[in-house]
Amino acid sequence: MHIAGKVDVNDLPRICPLLSRKTTPRYGETQTRVVEVGRVRFGGERPVVIAGPCAVESRDQTLEIARAVKGSGADMLRGGAFKPRTSPHDFQGLGLEGLKILREASRETGLPVVTEVMDVRLVEQVAEYVDMLQVGSRNMQNYPLLVEVGRSGKPVLLKRGMAASLCEWLGAAEYIANEGNLEIVLCERGIKAYPNGEYARYSLDLNVIPAVQAETFLPVIVDPSHATGVAAMVEGASRAAIEFGAQGLIIEVASDRLDSVKPRCDAAQAITPRILRRIIHYIDTRQEYVTEMTHAAQA
Ligand code: PEP
Ligand code: MN
Repeated sequence: MHIAGKVDVNDLPRICPLLSRKTTPRYGETQTRVVEVGRVRFGGERPVVIAGPCAVESRDQTLEIARAVKGSGADMLRGGAFKPRTSPHDFQGLGLEGLKILREASRETGLPVVTEVMDVRLVEQVAEYVDMLQVGSRNMQNYPLLVEVGRSGKPVLLKRGMAASLCEWLGAAEYIANEGNLEIVLCERGIKAYPNGEYARYSLDLNVIPAVQAETFLPVIVDPSHATGVAAMVEGASRAAIEFGAQGLIIEVASDRLDSVKPRCDAAQAITPRILRRIIHYIDTRQEYVTEMTHAAQA
């Protein structure tokens, strides 16, 4: 039986010739094309850790968390100024004010910042304030938006659609590349599966990490916060992702001060700066071991 539109990984050289290892053999079978955001190098020597609040809720909240994640050793800051919410009655983010707060937090801490852009009309404005644009899971197949972020001249963090196949995801990345922008970092953030909502928010698809790396030279990172939706699972999911070869993590963090206000968005999945520090310590010590073993093998 022939089904219209049916594709599989064998079709990737046709779907994404700019990004497929087969059609763009410059990076061989295993090399990653490094994406630089300021001094941060995705696909470089060491996994990159992006951390920060789900949403920018206020100046004080964002500055406090930015300082805390910097203190825990994070490489980059995250925070949503425009939030994709299930209900239009839920907090939608602070918009332009949120972008200004992110820029201030980034200046103060020296951490480059990534934020989501949802609206094709706002790409230029958002790009003025941040170092990297995020295309969220819900917008992975918003093709006009992909074209616009491709033209923005900014590096792009492209989240996997929550029900997207590998072909659809890499096809989406190709839209950005097709505008001459190869500064793309892919992000697995959990996919829809039958038990979702019973014990976790989504299902973290670790298997896709080596699969992505076999097909393309783009770096791939993991979001253990949205993938699990449960703060207690974030550390384990982070470690597992690193073991599977993830080239970075993006993690939601909230204040652990007793008098802090509960986040208005995704509170149940936010970890404390202390747990973040532990995850980063794990990455650093593992990295020392990997480096030692590589040197030993070369000696
Ligand atoms: C986010 O990172 O803020 C977010 C909304 O993630 P996702 O698009 O993966 O749901
Ligand atoms: Mn969130």
